[in-house]
Amino acid sequence: MRIGIDDTDSPAGMCTTYLGAVLAARLRDEGMLVDRALLVRLNPNVIWKTRGNAAICLEASGDAETAFAVACRTVEELADFSCDMTNPGVVVSQSPLPVEFYRKAVQGFCETAEALAILAQEGVLFRGYKNCRGLIGATAAVASSFDDSTWELLAYRDPSLRDTPRTVDKESFFVSEQATFPHTWDTVDTVNGVVVCVPHTPDPVLFGIRGESPSWVRKARDLISSERPLLEQLFLTNQGTDAHLMPGSIGHLREGCSYLVPGRVASCPVTGRGGHVSFLISEGAETVRCMAYEPTKGFRDIVRKLLPGDILIVAGSYKQGTINLEKLFVRSAPDHVRERAPLCPVCGKRVTSAGRNKGFKCRSCSSRSHLPERTTISRSLQPGWYEVPPTARRHLAKPLCRGSPPVESHI
Ligand code: ATP
Repeated sequence: MRIGIDDTDSPAGMCTTYLGAVLAARLRDEGMLVDRALLVRLNPNVIWKTRGNAAICLEASGDAETAFAVACRTVEELADFSCDMTNPGVVVSQSPLPVEFYRKAVQGFCETAEALAILAQEGVLFRGYKNCRGLIGATAAVASSFDDSTWELLAYRDPSLRDTPRTVDKESFFVSEQATFPHTWDTVDTVNGVVVCVPHTPDPVLFGIRGESPSWVRKARDLISSERPLLEQLFLTNQGTDAHLMPGSIGHLREGCSYLVPGRVASCPVTGRGGHVSFLISEGAETVRCMAYEPTKGFRDIVRKLLPGDILIVAGSYKQGTINLEKLFVRSAPDHVRERAPLCPVCGKRVTSAGRNKGFKCRSCSSRSHLPERTTISRSLQPGWYEVPPTARRHLAKPLCRGSPPVESHI
């Protein structure tokens, strides 16, 4: 059977992954076999999310009624019901639910009524609390099937320490990354010198190690020194797989969805207030703004090197008329020839146009010249993929160390 839970936490505390880990332990205590725990990330742009829009699915063998009772009891005990935005959902199903619902929940938007219609089938046990929105994530988690997957080992704090700062040996995370990258990733951001995998939010997570296999994340975890975790759980996950990205084209992008979009740079990048960098790309007559926000740090230096005419594929979420960049592919960034009016060969002043197809005329000494001044701007931007640093990466975004998206189908 599959057991799905979602929407148990609030900005003040709790975490659905922790609740999933506690539930897995309690089901084992009941004598059930818990085969796998899935950490299922859903559309990162839904407005109801607390942090990373995560839902949990446990795959277990045993009595479904008992599993459902234990799951509901655990949610009722641990979920933060005091928060308006916390609307838990619990689903237990012994038969597969439609995978299309999972895909829609990762790439688009779902209604609670759609989840309820799926859950109405015989043999599914479910309970929605308060406005029941959590049933969307719980149903999507049970319906999930990953085309690509990674692993995350999450370590959770002892509740008695929760109001204290997390005690971790920062250096050990750098040692761990050095010993296991690229088989693990996003433990630290080496360029910016920051530990990425330890949250700063008031939730039970101590740290999370992401990687390609259980053995690599365990190897990385064993190199970390910290306060003693209360509980650790290994999750199979759709994190780091680009499951949220769809092929898109400018002029046909839907609000709150995430895309791979081909286009040609249509304006020079501009650094605005707060250090955010923006530029336009176009395809035919359609244009869209792309943004590299300040937290993307050095990625903005790549973006600033773009020039009109460069051919790109950009990846990111479309929100309020703007694509928020997660990564980009520079297909071509040719040397740029800039033409402008030349200096007068007689008096040295800059001449002006004498009219269409009439060359240039010096306003000072009236002498004429025919050819514009041409300057070649050679480019330091090499073709290839560029990504935001680990500190700015979204959970679902596939790091380039795992491979890059196929480009041919997007051009
Ligand atoms: P955390 O990751 O810290 O556990 P969260 O960021 O996952 O928290 P939730 O508290 O689970 O946030 O809130 C997300 C809410 O949005 C849930 O009720 C979930 O059912 C709902 N939801 C998730 N994906 C979609 C979607 N694609 N369309 C509509 N609702 C969604």
